[in-house]
Amino acid sequence: MRATKRRALGQHFLRDAGVARAIVDLVAPTAADLVVEIGPGEGALTGELVRRAGRVVALEIDRGLAGRLSARFPSIEVVEADARVWEYGAIARPRDGRALVVGNLPYSVGKPILAALIAARTAIDEMVLMLQREVAERVAAPPGGKTYGSLSVLSQLYCDARIALRVPPGAFRPPPAVESAVLHLRVLRGPRVALSDERRFHAVVRAAFAQRRKTLANALAAGLGVSLAVVRASATTAGVDPGRRAETLSILEFAELARRL
Ligand code: SAM
Repeated sequence: MRATKRRALGQHFLRDAGVARAIVDLVAPTAADLVVEIGPGEGALTGELVRRAGRVVALEIDRGLAGRLSARFPSIEVVEADARVWEYGAIARPRDGRALVVGNLPYSVGKPILAALIAARTAIDEMVLMLQREVAERVAAPPGGKTYGSLSVLSQLYCDARIALRVPPGAFRPPPAVESAVLHLRVLRGPRVALSDERRFHAVVRAAFAQRRKTLANALAAGLGVSLAVVRASATTAGVDPGRRAETLSILEFAELARRL
């Protein structure tokens, strides 16, 4: 395959068996569990998964890799598919086991794949995803810092998120230009805080962070097309100082704000 296509598909293959085992250990699949693997590539993680999980479904966009994987692991289901748009909700959940998602994601499309997985969260129990370190850190960030943003709030609304491992470029062939980190996500039974209107919550969070250097009141007024006076009054009723910056608000405070706006 040409180098440009390999780069576009983020084909950096894990060549450290210890890291592969450590990633799979985070969810410790058993014979009762289903694992959906995203981007199996040459099978560095697949080998570990096949030994431990009851059922493995592997989504690979590259036809050549998908064919070789089927030949190497005849007991798994290899699906030639785009993980950004695959119908995760249609997969049959195991009756007594967990539905797990594991993947060393192609970094160029890591965020849309994560968004698709969060949208399909009710079909999933736990996920272990290797991402570009900077993206993984944004997902797991607590309030108060520069990495905390809409990706953190909208992921942590539905999941417990933590960085479980950091992986250096040398663990891959060819080595990527960026550092990697493994994110462990446990899907919550419902949103972390009660929401009166989920769509409005998403809109408020996105508007607040769209102009993160502005005060909350200015960012929301501009992003939502609401007058400054209305935003200030709503924030005050919600118990949030309208002069604060979005990055200082907890998920609960965003929920209160969205309820009042
Ligand atoms: N899991 C393997 C490993 O750790 O060695 C390969 C990881 S590599 C970073 C990403 C893999 O995802 C590649 O095999 C690539 O072909 C595949 N891929 C890229 N875009 C994809 C997409 N949209 N849907 C599914 N697979 C994709």
